[in-house]
Amino acid sequence: MSTIALIVAAGRGTRALSGKAGQGLPPNDTTPKQYRMLAGQSVLARAIAPFTAHPKIDRVIVVIHPDDGDEYARHTLEHPKVGEPVMGGATRAESVLNGLRAAAAFSPENILIHDAARPFIGKDVISRVINALDVHQAAVPTLPAVDAMRRVGTDGILADVVDREGIRRAQTPQGFRFTTLLPIMEAAAANATLPSLSDEAQAIITAGQSVASVEGDPMNFKVTIPEDFTMAERLLAQPDIRTGQGYDVHAFGDGDHVVLCGIKIPHGRGLSGHSDADVGLHTITDALLGAVAEGDIGRHFPPSDPQWKGMDSAVFLKRAVEIVSERGYAISNIDLTLICEEPKVTPHAPAMINRVAELCGLDPSRVSIKATTSERLGFTGRREGIAATAVATVIGKT
Ligand code: MG
Repeated sequence: MSTIALIVAAGRGTRALSGKAGQGLPPNDTTPKQYRMLAGQSVLARAIAPFTAHPKIDRVIVVIHPDDGDEYARHTLEHPKVGEPVMGGATRAESVLNGLRAAAAFSPENILIHDAARPFIGKDVISRVINALDVHQAAVPTLPAVDAMRRVGTDGILADVVDREGIRRAQTPQGFRFTTLLPIMEAAAANATLPSLSDEAQAIITAGQSVASVEGDPMNFKVTIPEDFTMAERLLAQPDIRTGQGYDVHAFGDGDHVVLCGIKIPHGRGLSGHSDADVGLHTITDALLGAVAEGDIGRHFPPSDPQWKGMDSAVFLKRAVEIVSERGYAISNIDLTLICEEPKVTPHAPAMINRVAELCGLDPSRVSIKATTSERLGFTGRREGIAATAVATVIGKT
């Protein structure tokens, strides 16, 4: 069963032309919307790609405006399934007919007709339309009309409620048996009814045949007005993910407890340091500051400053959390490893995780605290102190 996809890209897209400040569109840009860029790729190239990638699509024919040859060449990715573009006509229906005539050279069984302004068409909808053509002459993807439908007068005043019962929104690609559609479209051209057709499905219905409805996809929306471009850009926006690492060491000294990740653990020795020597919180603080390239704990809380003497290290971590937020990022996760022979960390890990999660405003599932020894090697192996290493990931807030 051979299937050709016809991508209709001959329109001028006048409704999308008026970009306003702040919408990411240049004002007074006359570029037709199908050649507008979305995250580095044109709308048209995005609309074509799912068809070239689909195993049941044998060929893609793109119908373009006669003035757009250069734009097309600049923005469309080369692919073995995509042939030379076909020039469109004065109306959408004429453009489609030109495409159908070009497709006739390949004698396809099915033809799928898709709007170039629907760049988020997915494989599933394409498959549903093609599969429906096994039993139907024509098939159109549709969606329920979820919003209340109201007629609004030219004066901007609400008029009557439109009954939603049985109303569904039609999308593309609309699929047809080729030998059904082409003669109907040729006949419409011959009797001059072609310009009055809203789409090819209507041509089929007008000719007395039925069109099946298959489930569409809300993502397969048509980029029509500038706000649609804003939404499309948001959908394609890549998350700004950054990672920071931290490392710290504190030596054992006199004392009867250590503080690790805000938890007081009785121990024969304490940790020495200017603050409470919480090597765990210091390391996490450094990882967070590193993720947003804001130096380290010593830059924000100089050890030479007496006000930090004996300080609860939660103060340092809370400030780092604030700095991350001020730089426009949210913490995604923290992973800390404490390296020591003693004290035993694992029994205290759940309490540490809860404390760090609380200080960072995170769900505890986003905090990992684990411990290891250094196999009695080095300073931690000789029980001279505790080392810690951490990684923190932050995500840009949109
Ligand atoms: Mg430290």
